[in-house]
Amino acid sequence: MKRIKHTKIVATISDKNCQPDFLRALLDAGMNVVRINTAHQTTDSAMQIINNVRSVCDSLAILVDTKGPEIRTKNIGEPIKISKGEKITIKCGDDQSGEGMLVVDYSNFVRDIPVGSSVLIDDGELEMTIVEKIGDRLIALVGNDGFIKNKKSINVPGISLHLPSLTEKDRQFIMWAAANDLDFIAHSFVRNKEDVLAVQEILDEENSKIKIIAKIENTDGVKNIDEILDYAYGIMVARGDLGIEIAAEKIPAIQRKLIRKCVERKKPVIIATQMLHTMISNPRPTRAEVSDVATAIYDRTDAVMLSGETAYGQYPVEAVQLMSRVAIEVESSKDKRNDLPVPRLENEVSAFLAEAAVMSANELKVAAIITDTLTGKIARYISAFRSPRPVFAKCHTGRVKRELALSYGVFASEIKAKKNKYKLVETSLLDLVERGFINEDETVVYVGGNFGVGGGTSFIEIASVAQMMHQKKEKSGK
Ligand code: PGA
Ligand code: MN
Repeated sequence: MKRIKHTKIVATISDKNCQPDFLRALLDAGMNVVRINTAHQTTDSAMQIINNVRSVCDSLAILVDTKGPEIRTKNIGEPIKISKGEKITIKCGDDQSGEGMLVVDYSNFVRDIPVGSSVLIDDGELEMTIVEKIGDRLIALVGNDGFIKNKKSINVPGISLHLPSLTEKDRQFIMWAAANDLDFIAHSFVRNKEDVLAVQEILDEENSKIKIIAKIENTDGVKNIDEILDYAYGIMVARGDLGIEIAAEKIPAIQRKLIRKCVERKKPVIIATQMLHTMISNPRPTRAEVSDVATAIYDRTDAVMLSGETAYGQYPVEAVQLMSRVAIEVESSKDKRNDLPVPRLENEVSAFLAEAAVMSANELKVAAIITDTLTGKIARYISAFRSPRPVFAKCHTGRVKRELALSYGVFASEIKAKKNKYKLVETSLLDLVERGFINEDETVVYVGGNFGVGGGTSFIEIASVAQMMHQKKEKSGK
């Protein structure tokens, strides 16, 4: 059987480059999820992306990335020149920024930031240290020469800010995503469960089933990962901001720890940012970038992400193709001894059967695991055990099928609900045989529910495809 890529690829798409032909080329190269970064979109421009994605393929999931709570520089006309060793005043409010004075757009900035904090501007380009707090202003000592421009990002590493969970723009995009039946909201700068719940509240009001991906990109998010995972569907390790908020040398260990947490909780995880950064302008990546993609896969991530590489880079299709090739190579050279343990809760039948299915895929000559899934849960469970063989998930809705686009090794497609399990097994297998994914004489594992749709997972069966299909005919008396 031909080796197929198990690691999922999330590609960021901009309205400036989202023609159907281009999307189809990315799909053929291995893209599974389209990410729309709302920091650079309006709902109208994003709608163009949605329409084109849907015209190309109904299995691609769409992920909307919010801006989230953040602080930016404000009221700057001409860029402000700053020099190392100089002091600058920082204020909140409506004053004009200018020489020696920087106004920021978060009203509690002065209150929240203690003396001694380091303040980073423009993705860490400029650094200053707070040396004094006088009434409603902070005095900062500039650490390097440069220019402060308007609306540039401000990070204060390690400090918990009391920013609200959502901006007005986030709220609008979430409601828009709900109205358009999109698949995932990736919420930026999630610090705790309240930030996840704030998004969930809007989704509940809109009666939306959209799943929330918590972007972990600051110290609080890392610290509170357990409670965040209680409420989020999955996470994104957003290394761009994380690498500014936390020392870069600490990121690899955090990446490993966060992947482990997600696998333990059987939730999908995406590793994001700068994976093939130089491919924005070069046809070939650096060796270090190839190793970075490989490391994320050896760490057992579900998905890897591309940002500028596909949104505005010169080699977007090549970047996705490269990622796919690296994934296939790395997946086949994984060492089972490095697999992550997935704890099973007491009496958890689905997890037990999922583990048994993957164990058989590891130890027996099994071509694939096949399952039918109403909510996607059993497919995610099997995925958590990181099967070396593909997991074909038969879903009863397009939504569940698309949600599984983020889960490692799961190939989801739709099937109409059937009256009994025999009919379901037969129809599922027949479809996979017809599409050339499995042969009748191959052994497969079927994970299913005895009590039909919605009854929960209750059996696994290991037999040849032909045997399973034949058994149906005898038992259902057809
Ligand atoms: P962003 O998130 O691209 O929306 O900032 C990803 C990151 O910070 O890594
Ligand atoms: Mn970010």
